[in-house]
Amino acid sequence: MTCEEIYDTGLLYHHYANTAYPLTPTSFMQYKLTDQKEIYDFVCAEWNNVEELSLYIHVPFCKTRCKFCEYVVLENPSEEVENEYVELLLKEMEMYSKILKGKRIVGYDLGGGTPTKLSVENLRRITDAVYNLFDIQENVVFSIETTPLIAMEAPEKIKAMYDMGYHRISMGVQTVSEKLLSELGRDGSKSIYEKAVLNIREAGYKNFNIDLMYGFLNQSERDFDNTLHYAIGLNPDYITLYRNRYKGTKIEYEAGGVSIYKAMYQYRIAYRVLTEHGYQANVGKNTFSRIEDDYGTSDYLTTRVINGIPYVGMGLGAQSFGINYLAYNLGAAEKQMERYKAAVKQGHLPFQDIYRLPMEESIAKMVSVAFYFAFVDMAAFKRRFGVDFQERFHEEIKFVLENQLMEIKGDRIYLTERGADYINGIIPLFYSEKSKEELKLASVKKGNNGKSDEELFLSTYDITDYDRPSVTADIAAFTIRKEADESKLALLLIRRGEHPYMNCWALPGGFLRADETIEECALREIKEETNVVPSAIMPVGVYSDCNRDPRGRIISHAFTSIVCEDAVRTLGGDDAIDAKWFDVTCEEEKDGMCRLEVANDSAIIVSMLKVKTSTFGKGSYEIVESGGLAFDHAVIIVEALMTLRGNVAADL
Ligand code: SF4
Repeated sequence: MTCEEIYDTGLLYHHYANTAYPLTPTSFMQYKLTDQKEIYDFVCAEWNNVEELSLYIHVPFCKTRCKFCEYVVLENPSEEVENEYVELLLKEMEMYSKILKGKRIVGYDLGGGTPTKLSVENLRRITDAVYNLFDIQENVVFSIETTPLIAMEAPEKIKAMYDMGYHRISMGVQTVSEKLLSELGRDGSKSIYEKAVLNIREAGYKNFNIDLMYGFLNQSERDFDNTLHYAIGLNPDYITLYRNRYKGTKIEYEAGGVSIYKAMYQYRIAYRVLTEHGYQANVGKNTFSRIEDDYGTSDYLTTRVINGIPYVGMGLGAQSFGINYLAYNLGAAEKQMERYKAAVKQGHLPFQDIYRLPMEESIAKMVSVAFYFAFVDMAAFKRRFGVDFQERFHEEIKFVLENQLMEIKGDRIYLTERGADYINGIIPLFYSEKSKEELKLASVKKGNNGKSDEELFLSTYDITDYDRPSVTADIAAFTIRKEADESKLALLLIRRGEHPYMNCWALPGGFLRADETIEECALREIKEETNVVPSAIMPVGVYSDCNRDPRGRIISHAFTSIVCEDAVRTLGGDDAIDAKWFDVTCEEEKDGMCRLEVANDSAIIVSMLKVKTSTFGKGSYEIVESGGLAFDHAVIIVEALMTLRGNVAADL
């Protein structure tokens, strides 16, 4: 496949071509190791040659499972299950401690699930084991995750974790839209978040991150914008954005309804809002930090993603990535504890799958994940694989540079602004050949519960998420009177019988109905108010000044027409109490002013307007004195006259 084909395929299947590699849980089956003895020897040999690594410990418990969750999670466990799990975890840690003896630990995360769901005692047992069993590098900042509810309800636990050495804490807020939260099966409220943040700060945390999510089917830009501003108001040190990945979640079937443009646009909103508020990140990166020279991510993530440091994951379903292998612990597939428990009790490293990877796949894994930070550190790549990145990906780099998708700065190659938009096309350029083919095969679309992508999108689209101004049509209907040899224009006006502008003269017009076009509306209104049905109407313009109508945001489409004078009935209908013809004259005066006069036996109305040059090249008018004409109708009348002069007769 050419770079262009791979790039296009990635954009087309953007929900799959992301930083999560490999594409599916079965992609690496051909590399799977099965013999227990072989596995143990292989893993020992792998780590033997490694000097430093990071640790991840997984606590798979949550109160309920959010519908978008892609992690290994067990819902609402009993205390007994939690205690048993911690026992198993400690045994697994002990097994690894023998293999990793003397290795420097440069990053450590306690993640989940929700690790703070465990009791303080269990959390302490895990943390003591980390200190006692592994050689933790001195400056490593321990990182932990919590939910807002736990941070609110259990301040003593949050403080205990700080005292145990966890000085970075991450709290998932995801969204503050109550509608979206309830659809996603998640608790949350502003009072919870605010108390949670207070407890976190009082405990002493100075590295506090809030996670937010975007890319949901029915998450409007307004929802997301509100969430961003609310999160900024909570004053965290870092904000991390996660684009919903759908793969393997309860809402996977919704993926087709979310276009790449929606995700792109939401990221752009976030980038603008966050950087405007002092949260910095290179474009395309997910974590924004307001602390100078701090990426905002945990040491575990920073070292594994930027530096390509291998890592060991412990606990149910945890992932490990050695120099030449990728492994998932038992529980990753079935999300049950039984097999994990049995393996640990027998003294086996509890692998569900362990794959001995060819270098091409290890490279693809490292580079895909690197896009989490929106750049690849080419020096780290060389250190890890002994291969020059630019030589290895000569064609791909040529493609991304020529298309302004990435740029090289020193030892790093970064996404550009354009590249950040099209990241899903860029990542698969660095896939293995096998995975490129697999991505192509993903073109056999998954069923969206029997609906097309567009049907799915429309089924949840809520038009009330956007402002919906009212729309009206106004009609400047003229008649031509012959007086001696002269043609004179008369204009039909109605006297308003309702507020606003009650008793003022106005153009006939009214509100658009849902079942008619704007032209049908114009014809209907003039018929209702004056009994006139013009044979033709001509557009004058659209009037959208925000304050043009005191009732609210109302946009008017104005039309003009020439009608027969005799057809007009004496009294107006609908909200008009009278309808009359007025002689009309319009003259340009000195100082860029224009004088409009409409007059008949019973009234003379003079409006003064200022001529403006619009930025769009068309002359327009501004009312200085309306003389009693309603709304901005003096402007519409003058512009309708110009339209007639330009299209019907210049001498009118
Ligand atoms: S709280 Fe986090 S880990 Fe738990 S179910 Fe929700 S998304 Fe998954």
